[in-house]
Amino acid sequence: MTNLRVLVVGAGFAGAVIARECAEAGHAVHVIDRRPHIGGNAHDTVNSHGERIHIYGPHLLHGERDSVAIRWLSRFTDWVPYEHRVRALLADGRTTPLPVNRTTLEDVFGVALESEEEAKALLASQATPLQPTNTDEVFLSNVGPRLADLFFRPYTRKMWGVCPTELEAAVGARLPVRSNRDDRYFTDSFQAMPKDGFTALFARIFDHPAIEVTLGEAYGEEHDRHYDHVFLSLPIDEYFRFRHGRLPYRSIRFESDQMPVDQAATVINYTDTGVYTRCTQWDLIPNSGRRTDGQHTITREIPCDASENNNECYYPVRNRQSLALYDRYRTLAAAEPNKTFIGRCGLFRYIDMVPCVTIHLQLAARFLAGEPLPRAA
Ligand code: UDP
Repeated sequence: MTNLRVLVVGAGFAGAVIARECAEAGHAVHVIDRRPHIGGNAHDTVNSHGERIHIYGPHLLHGERDSVAIRWLSRFTDWVPYEHRVRALLADGRTTPLPVNRTTLEDVFGVALESEEEAKALLASQATPLQPTNTDEVFLSNVGPRLADLFFRPYTRKMWGVCPTELEAAVGARLPVRSNRDDRYFTDSFQAMPKDGFTALFARIFDHPAIEVTLGEAYGEEHDRHYDHVFLSLPIDEYFRFRHGRLPYRSIRFESDQMPVDQAATVINYTDTGVYTRCTQWDLIPNSGRRTDGQHTITREIPCDASENNNECYYPVRNRQSLALYDRYRTLAAAEPNKTFIGRCGLFRYIDMVPCVTIHLQLAARFLAGEPLPRAA
């Protein structure tokens, strides 16, 4: 393939992987982002107290140690080992581990469980046997109605703005249920944070003589004639000017505060029916500094529709109707020459960071091999 001029719209994980791979293959890459910073929603910054804050909510990296994606990322950063822990705040002010494990069951049911078998038996006595077809059915089949009503149904309604019956099963399936006492949020073999933060990681990925990054620049059709290929991570419905209607996205508003004492875990999830879903104490993530005044910055999250937050699209709301609508946009995308939709908003998929790297390394490899690309997966 001769040297191409490639435009990458969006400086988050998807765009960064495509940009770097294309640059290393000898193509000239221009990355634009309408935001004033790199890193997409993983962008982090150090506040005046030395605490590292993820301005779009906590991003915790986890994957398989020997995976291609982790090896690729490790070219651009050193790591600080970090196993994330979350506790749920109960109505009486106690907190208990999440995902639900043997300790959680003891806390909720007020019993002592001597073995994994006893925990499994308790879970089996609660669970509703069914083949889940939506998120609510995942909750029922994993833990049954009592625990679903406590930990999952209220949170999911706040988070997604719809009843969990309206969400595809994959959302509920993100959280495991355990009969042991493992209280880590993830069990992947590699769990770590970039030593100098995500923004520094992105800066190193973009640090290549064939990559130019322009911030504060939105994509417009006028860009097209300057490039041989365009990778777009903007929302696919926005690209087509919402011709078939808007795809639903959830967004999050953030409220920060200070606390004089450590909370019980890096993230506390709220089980009540109020507006907040979770609260992060940033200095418990080990690539953050700690303040010298004894205070700790915490950030609470209030989910909302993207329309209530400047159309900041964070989480695609995937259900039968929205996937049918996405399909109509995918059909439009198939008629666009030399364009490929990427990332969470281009593909209308809930993609964690490491799978995002994997997917876009594969996409880049196909592009660089001259293979035809799906316009949107
Ligand atoms: N969830 C829940 N209660 C919790 C935590 C999660 O019901 O305390 C459900 C909720 O639907 C959420 C989903 O599980 O959207 C996935 O949770 P995860 O922590 O993976 O969400 P993310 O960190 O991606 O926002």
